[in-house]
Amino acid sequence: MELNGQDIVAWFDYTNEKIQQHKEYLTSLDQPIGDGDHGINMARGYQETVKRLAAKEYSEPSEVLKDASMTLLSKVGGASGPLYGTAFLKMSMAVKGLETIDQDALVKGLEAALAGLKQRGKSEVGEKTLLDVWGPVVEYCSGNDLKVDVLLDTARTAMENTSGLQATKGRAAYFKEKSIGHIDPGSASSFYVFEALAEVLKEKL
Ligand code: ADP
Ligand code: MG
Repeated sequence: MELNGQDIVAWFDYTNEKIQQHKEYLTSLDQPIGDGDHGINMARGYQETVKRLAAKEYSEPSEVLKDASMTLLSKVGGASGPLYGTAFLKMSMAVKGLETIDQDALVKGLEAALAGLKQRGKSEVGEKTLLDVWGPVVEYCSGNDLKVDVLLDTARTAMENTSGLQATKGRAAYFKEKSIGHIDPGSASSFYVFEALAEVLKEKL
């Protein structure tokens, strides 16, 4: 499995399609335990990202990740913009200089992204944030020979499991125990990120 710059562009294109398609759903998740802007934030940021990526020829995956991170950082807004921006920036740095990303490099990139999310969000897995999807997915990818179906199941289950958690970070934390019983919006958008990655990998494995 080797991912080149165009494959990484495809990752953002596929994610964008899902985010646009599920924009209302993401926003509806952010209504009971937030301020109802997550779908709007992500749709705006990803739309700008794919526009920027389409305007350039890329030879290295890291350059795609860097341009995407900068766009997400400045265009998504909210708490999630800096978080996604940081995740892809750290991933970009971890794969710098590589013409293609193999499974080892992908794992290193995802681990760096997760570390960046923890640092930027001052958060850990278990606090009902997008880390509750990134954590289990990165753990699966680090320890196993990648299987697309398992990757997808891991991401979906992790997202669904956020419903049972009480939020201790972000706006949802203000809702205390009332945050239980709702899927975390950032976990849902992260599920689309990994669903899109699974689609890119499916074409390669
Ligand atoms: P805002 O909360 O500013 O309105 P969004 O609605 O775009 O921003 O994003 C909310 C999502 O961001 C949450 O569902 C959660 O997954 C994530 N999030 C918020 N704060 C943190 C944090 N400190 N660490 C990790 N993720 C966070
Ligand atoms: Mg919000």
